[in-house]
Amino acid sequence: MADVPAECTIKVMCRFRPLNSSEVARGDKYIPKFQGEDHVVVGSKPFQFDRVFQPNTTQEQVYNACAQKIVKDVLEGYNGTIFAYGQTSSGKTHTMEGNLHDTDGMGIIPRIVQDIFNYIYSMDENLEFHIKVSYFEIYLDKIRDLLDGMSQADPLCYMVEMEKRFPSLSNVIQTTCLTHDNILLRPLKDSVAKKVLLFKSSILPEGPCLSLSSQVSKTGAEGAVLDEAKNINKSLSSLGNVISALAEGSGYIPYRDSKMTRILQDSLGGNCRTTIVICASPSAYNESETKSTLMFGQRAKTIKNTVCVNVELTAEQWKKKYEREKEKGKALRNTITWLENELNRWRNGESVPVDEQFDKEKAQAEVLALDNVPNDKPASTPNMPQLRLTDAEKDKCEVELAKLYKQLDDKDDEINQQSQLAEKLKQQMLDQEELLASSRRDHDNLQSELNRLQAENEASKDEVKEVLQALEELAVNYDQKSQEVEDKTKEFEMVSDELNQKSSVLTSIDSELQKLKDMSNHQKKRVSEMMSSLLKDLAEIGIAVGSTEIKQHDGSGLIDEDFTVARLYISKMKSEVKTMVKRSKQLESTQSESNKKMDENDKELAACQLRIQQHEAKIKSLTEYLQNVEQKKRQLEENVDSLNEELVKISAQGTTHTHTHTQDELDKKTKLTPMHTLSTVYCGYVPFGRQLQCLLSPVLGCYIVLLCYTF
Ligand code: ADP
Ligand code: MG
Repeated sequence: MADVPAECTIKVMCRFRPLNSSEVARGDKYIPKFQGEDHVVVGSKPFQFDRVFQPNTTQEQVYNACAQKIVKDVLEGYNGTIFAYGQTSSGKTHTMEGNLHDTDGMGIIPRIVQDIFNYIYSMDENLEFHIKVSYFEIYLDKIRDLLDGMSQADPLCYMVEMEKRFPSLSNVIQTTCLTHDNILLRPLKDSVAKKVLLFKSSILPEGPCLSLSSQVSKTGAEGAVLDEAKNINKSLSSLGNVISALAEGSGYIPYRDSKMTRILQDSLGGNCRTTIVICASPSAYNESETKSTLMFGQRAKTIKNTVCVNVELTAEQWKKKYEREKEKGKALRNTITWLENELNRWRNGESVPVDEQFDKEKAQAEVLALDNVPNDKPASTPNMPQLRLTDAEKDKCEVELAKLYKQLDDKDDEINQQSQLAEKLKQQMLDQEELLASSRRDHDNLQSELNRLQAENEASKDEVKEVLQALEELAVNYDQKSQEVEDKTKEFEMVSDELNQKSSVLTSIDSELQKLKDMSNHQKKRVSEMMSSLLKDLAEIGIAVGSTEIKQHDGSGLIDEDFTVARLYISKMKSEVKTMVKRSKQLESTQSESNKKMDENDKELAACQLRIQQHEAKIKSLTEYLQNVEQKKRQLEENVDSLNEELVKISAQGTTHTHTHTQDELDKKTKLTPMHTLSTVYCGYVPFGRQLQCLLSPVLGCYIVLLCYTF
């Protein structure tokens, strides 16, 4: 029996159930594709396990592959655990419990019980076995002993001592002689068994739990129902976290997050041979749940446990072991001295002959020989000399033996009670510690939250101050701009007035010009008329002169008179023409002046119009700016309002706000992904040997059978 720790991985078996009648009626697609004994492909993703069971696999085949070896190991002194995991209605109960009344249909648990007792029956008759059964549940993350408080007459409330040679079985809670049949199987078959099952289902109602989990995800359960769902899921999500942490090789494994993971601490990553049966539905309707279950199994497959045999030595055996270790130490010290001597000789340049050199193999053989000294015989088979006793002595011995057994039982009982008490106290201490730690954490969280809020408050105050300052600046700016706009408006009005004046001046100048033009036209007309009349006069004069010349030959005195008149006339006309020319020159200059003036006015008008346009553009931009500023101002005012509101809220809420926030955070933390895997779980713990314990417990989510062995 080796007591050297050995590493082994957790075994993961995958079992698919057949399509059920409603899935068939619905016409669901059958999704798994099985390849060989250990592969299954779901949704084109391949998964490999230690074994994959197709829907037609029998209960016996499942037991042989999943549990038989573990039971054998447990009987050799190892710890063992088997648990089933899977979505509701995937076949966990079928696998672990099965049909208890049917030899073919019974599941793993009844078969384990059968195997254990078959083994006991086949053992040396001198051996004595103490079988202890515990039955507890983990519900809402609380462990409850289901035996505690049960009627003493209940056949499951016992601790059995079975001694094959002397069937004087003592029973702590008074049960009669119990063999595997009437201990674990018969009670499950008769009415009491039904009572037990009923009892289980009354505490862990599978139906309500089922609908509960779906309610959480779909409609959001409330109050106690929600708490219940959260706590149920807590165990399962903690299990998932532990499996993930172990699979990732993380340094910290959160076993302490739930009672279930704490109970399973040795089974997952500890000293235990563990097999996980993951159960899955083959229907396409459940594809995502099936995939998540398979992923869980894949992760769990990578976990390594370190197992070693549990051995409980007697004082005599401990003494022998000590002597042996002392011998081993001595042999090793001799080896060292030998090697040191040899080394010194080599160092001194000596050549050590082969027969004087250290013989490693011989030394190892000596140590091994010490290891193999047979002294591990169980205490119950002492090598005592056979004594011949008379019948009376025999009777006396038997009475004495019975007394001693009774004492042993009493002591056992006492030890049990004490250890239970110690366990309870330890549990209480752990709970208190946890409470303290969580209170401390809460306090720290609250403190940091308070600090954060204070800092936030300060920052808000600063912000408000800055905003107010900016507002003040803006107000000043706004005043300046308003003043500017006013000035510009005044200027604009002045310019408009000036423009109006200029325009009226221009109109008057225009009309004057028109008048002057008219006058000049009139003058020109008059000049042309006068010229034509003058030319006419001159022509008449010419005619007259011609006739006078003719008359001159006749009378020269008349001609002289006419000449004088003509000369006068001409000079008069000359002077008149001169004045006319002068006048026309004057008019021309006036016209050119007017034209010049008109040009100037035109220019001035254009300049004025340009200026007006400029002013108008400026006014427009100023108005826009003003509007912008006003909008900004409004925004800032709103900002200030909201900041003030926040400030008031923060200071008013103060600590209550902190609390709520932390509460929110806590809520967030406890908000767990609702899981579908809610079902009955059995936890069992079976130290076996001098004392064999079997603890079976229904827990939501999975079935667990823990088997533990001690000599
Ligand atoms: P769970 O305990 O996981 O909620 P059950 O074990 O109650 O699921 O299984 C649901 C139904 O499917 C039961 O009626 C059960 O008899 C049936 N079932 C499960 N696995 C198998 C199987 N391998 N072969 C035949 N029927 C099965
Ligand atoms: Mg079930």
